[in-house]
Amino acid sequence: MAITMSLEGKTAVITGSNSGIGLGVAKELARAGADVVLNSFTDSPEDHAIAAEIAQEFGVTARYIQADMSDAEACRALIDKAGRCDILVNNAGIQHVAPVEDFSIDKWNAIIAINLSSAFHTTAAAVPMMRANGWGRVINIASAHGLTASPYKSAYIAAKHGVVGLTKTVALETAEDPITANAICPGYVLTPLVESQIPDQMKTHGMDRDQVVREVMLARQPSKDFATVEQMGGTATFLCSDAAAQITGTTISVDGGWTAL
Ligand code: NAD
Repeated sequence: MAITMSLEGKTAVITGSNSGIGLGVAKELARAGADVVLNSFTDSPEDHAIAAEIAQEFGVTARYIQADMSDAEACRALIDKAGRCDILVNNAGIQHVAPVEDFSIDKWNAIIAINLSSAFHTTAAAVPMMRANGWGRVINIASAHGLTASPYKSAYIAAKHGVVGLTKTVALETAEDPITANAICPGYVLTPLVESQIPDQMKTHGMDRDQVVREVMLARQPSKDFATVEQMGGTATFLCSDAAAQITGTTISVDGGWTAL
């Protein structure tokens, strides 16, 4: 059978997609022909304008649905409101950096809820729809920190390792259905989340911005280059293609060699 990359007729729900990697993934899936549902916890005219721009640029249906991914019911309601979910991209995520003994309980709970539990809730709501429609793709945006650790990121790394475990479990539970579940593990991608870490890192290390980028952030990324949101979107599109129909329960690193070290 010929391999197709077209996603026409599919609907993709991408959590946390009004900026950064989520938005990059939404655009690439729309470029491949998928209708897209964008999401974040805000509900501003700009959020809806982003969806309108995607609809215009790619000639697909694009909607924005507000839902707070720290709220279990809201996660499940997002999938219900989407009405259809052939491709689920669990991308919403936040970060907080502190030594484990100083790590605030509120930050720990928020990171586990948004970065890990939300993927459980949306997946639980989406898998029955995928089974009913006879096709599905669950794509979890984990991290190189889903496979390795760094100091001061206990909640984030615990959540991302959890996402990898959740991915494998969902893959086994859907293995005999035409559904796959995989995790993309990015290294450093230059997005608002990464930008927001730079001032803290400058303070911690007493370095200027350039030094932090080269010597701290990209210290473990052998390519010495940030990955791009388009590359994340391209990887997600590949995972949705027929070529990837037998790829399930695994991780794809897009990390400039980080996890080869
Ligand atoms: P970002 O801050 O640009 O995007 C995060 C998205 O999540 C935003 O759209 C934000 O609105 C949304 N979000 C945050 N809290 C939310 C909530 N409660 N409910 C709904 N949406 C919420 O950051 P990013 O770098 O694009 O990160 C996207 C994902 O990629 C995250 O899961 C992150 O852990 C992962 N990641 C990023 C990098 C990187 O280098 N940027 C590396 C590895 C993994």
